[in-house]
Amino acid sequence: MSRMTVDFGIDLGTTNSTIGVLRDNEVEIVKNNEGLEYTPSSVFIDKNGAVVVGRRAKERLETDSQNAYAEFKLQMGTNAEHIFARSGRRMKPEELSAEVLKSLKDDVKQRLGEEVNAAVITVPAAFELPQCKATYAAAQLAGITFSPLVQEPIAAAMAYGFHRVQDEKVFWLVYDLGGGTFDAAVMQVNEGVIHVVNHGGDNHLGGKLIDWAIVEQLLVPALTRERRLSDFRRGNPKWGKAIAKLKQAAEQAKIRVSRDRTTEIMLESLCLDDDGDPVDFEYELRKADVERMAEPFVLRSINICRKVLSERKLNVNNVGKVILVGGPTLMPYLRERLADPKEGLGIPLDFTVDPLTIVARGAAIYAGTQRNENTIIMPVSAGQYALELEYKPIGLEPEFDLGGRVIAGEGQSLDGFTVEFVNERAQKPWRSGRVAVGADGSFMATLWAEPDHQNTFRIELRDAVGNAHETVPDSLEYGFGMVVSNPPLIYSIGVALANNEVRVFFEKGTPLTAPIPVRKRFVQKLAYRIAKGQEGETIRIPVVEGEHKKADRNKLIGYLEISAAQIKRDLPAGTEVEVTIEINQSRLVRARAFIALLGERGQEFETELNMEKSIPDTSEMAKEIEQEKLRLEEVRRKLYATGDAGAVPILEKIDGEKMVEEVESSLDAALVDRDAADKCQNRLLNLKATVDELEEALMLPGLLAEAQEMIEWTEEVVTKLGKPPDQRKFEQMKRELLLAMNGRAVNPTVVSRKIEQMDSLRLSVLMARTEWWVDYFLHLEKMRDEMTNQAQAEQLFVQGRRAIESGAGDIEGVKNACRQLLQLLPARQQQTVGRFKSTLM
Ligand code: ADP
Ligand code: MG
Repeated sequence: MSRMTVDFGIDLGTTNSTIGVLRDNEVEIVKNNEGLEYTPSSVFIDKNGAVVVGRRAKERLETDSQNAYAEFKLQMGTNAEHIFARSGRRMKPEELSAEVLKSLKDDVKQRLGEEVNAAVITVPAAFELPQCKATYAAAQLAGITFSPLVQEPIAAAMAYGFHRVQDEKVFWLVYDLGGGTFDAAVMQVNEGVIHVVNHGGDNHLGGKLIDWAIVEQLLVPALTRERRLSDFRRGNPKWGKAIAKLKQAAEQAKIRVSRDRTTEIMLESLCLDDDGDPVDFEYELRKADVERMAEPFVLRSINICRKVLSERKLNVNNVGKVILVGGPTLMPYLRERLADPKEGLGIPLDFTVDPLTIVARGAAIYAGTQRNENTIIMPVSAGQYALELEYKPIGLEPEFDLGGRVIAGEGQSLDGFTVEFVNERAQKPWRSGRVAVGADGSFMATLWAEPDHQNTFRIELRDAVGNAHETVPDSLEYGFGMVVSNPPLIYSIGVALANNEVRVFFEKGTPLTAPIPVRKRFVQKLAYRIAKGQEGETIRIPVVEGEHKKADRNKLIGYLEISAAQIKRDLPAGTEVEVTIEINQSRLVRARAFIALLGERGQEFETELNMEKSIPDTSEMAKEIEQEKLRLEEVRRKLYATGDAGAVPILEKIDGEKMVEEVESSLDAALVDRDAADKCQNRLLNLKATVDELEEALMLPGLLAEAQEMIEWTEEVVTKLGKPPDQRKFEQMKRELLLAMNGRAVNPTVVSRKIEQMDSLRLSVLMARTEWWVDYFLHLEKMRDEMTNQAQAEQLFVQGRRAIESGAGDIEGVKNACRQLLQLLPARQQQTVGRFKSTLM
């Protein structure tokens, strides 16, 4: 197979190396012979002179240090030489790297049957020309004759789709902690191209140092406490083998506690002690110990990041996110530490792409945009025609231009020749029509590709009388998208709830990587009773896309609806509904609802929603825009009347950004243009959210008064009727609420939430008393006529009365009666909040 684009991407790492390949716009990491996605960059020459790369070589580093080497990447571009004692072979760093590359090539050969002769190779941001040249040389030695280089942080950022970020003021920080090196790079996008604007690092900082700290500070002291082992230390050749075993065990245990809280290290007959007795070593390694060992290194890395930022006069607010690269970033402790606003960087972290393979992934993505120069085959054999093609093999548009030249054999004329391109496998096969070839063989054509997948165009060359001639190459490829294998989710996806909040299922940026489909499940509850068969009644589950806290400020993807006719029994309020959302590669969203209460084994309902094809309805939007304008005018009047200072900047933003005008003008365009309709919808949602903000700001005085009132009421109830724990809880809540009310920037949402919390405390104190339930029961008695099952209701009224009159105050009996009576009230059309009218809570 001769690829038109490079497609292979290699992370030639200091500790580990990985190769990825772009297949059908998707990155696949090619596993090595041991089934692992990364291969240690270690080289060993065995007794027979055979070169061994990978895990087996790594295991020799400590035990056979004269015949095994690693970390030669650090010496690339220097004249260092590594001597393999047994075989006497001397190897330069690029030769050692070439062995690693060959090993990766062999894995591809074995897994995919393909010979890699072109690959993008990544290099650290700090690599200068000599180091890059050495990397090229390594590629050449390995038979990779075409090897564009790309910087590691750029590849990593590409794997997160950074090149598609529109905002050029956004910076990202790539935090790459490897086995022995640390790199921090600040990135920025300029016209779709990613740049490293500053970088820093430390070549002696990485996972390996944690392993050694574990060995030296934990394992060796424990071992020498138990047994007589004189001068047992790293660097004493006498104990080399034992130390090597400890180091390997420490690394593996360290990796295990990234997931588990504690792990066992067990080494049988590690060595012989001074008395000649075999030593069996057991040690329980705790997560906390590893964290303690890692802390100084983490701190160092944070300081480097701070420096890298301050050198560019950037503060944490300028940086959109930190992306994590490298094995040690899998440690939960490291992530918490980095995310901490005071002690860490305080910048949101992203680690949704596997930090061990991310660089190779990004490299493969980049490789998909690089034309494979190896596939231009010349010179031409008799009767064959060579083609030189000039075009971008990956783009965003279905139409693309192509230039080229036909190269004929010696003395052959191209008079009257034509070339035609045929997109045969498109659903509607497409032909370019015959394009004339100039006397010098050159031609120009515009081709059409079918969106959303890889297109192959067959090339037909004909002479003046219409006979077809063979060409090299005989086809060309064109793919869609800005190459990213699996563009991550651009928006969060969730379910709108009855109170107009969102239950987020997938955060924005979630990669749609294997195993596809991605799937998540949450158990929600019915917000109100649904009676079976009731006309017009449905369980409505709205699936939305967007970042707004208010559900209906987000885009509706669609509904999963279950009509009352489909259910076989009444479902009380609070019935559990297990909602599953699934997204596949083509971004089809499947929503499922499972209700255990239905039937013996429960019942499942399902629907498929399409995220991409929902064209917003322009007439609906037109109506909403009018509503929004009215709402805005009303708030504006209120604002002028009260002169509330807090709300002024928000109004200024609406006016300054000409939000209303923007929405209106995009509505006009939306009538003819699909893109504008999307834009209109987005802007409209944005306008709504900003008017919300304005309303909230104006409601603040009212809200604060409400809060004050709530404090007073609750105080009264708790003092009179509460128990000591209620009192304490109240005091705490009061402190928090006052703090929220008196802060510099009052957040209305927080204040409302605290009011609600206090209200439920008040209610719970009240509800602990028989009197409250008796009152409630009396209230229900007044609704006697509305009960849907009169006979049953009568029975419950009798039961309740009896409980009340039992003298001892049978609170449970009263409660029970109340609860059951509640279910007998007609399924009321509960007022749900928000446009989407969700049935779930
Ligand atoms: P490099 O970029 O130097 O080639 P890697 O990114 O492959 O290095 O990182 C290798 C390091 O990551 C090793 O020190 C290894 O112990 C460590 N590592 C791998 N997986 C984990 C894990 N789950 N938790 C902690 N450390 C890990
Ligand atoms: Mg690395």
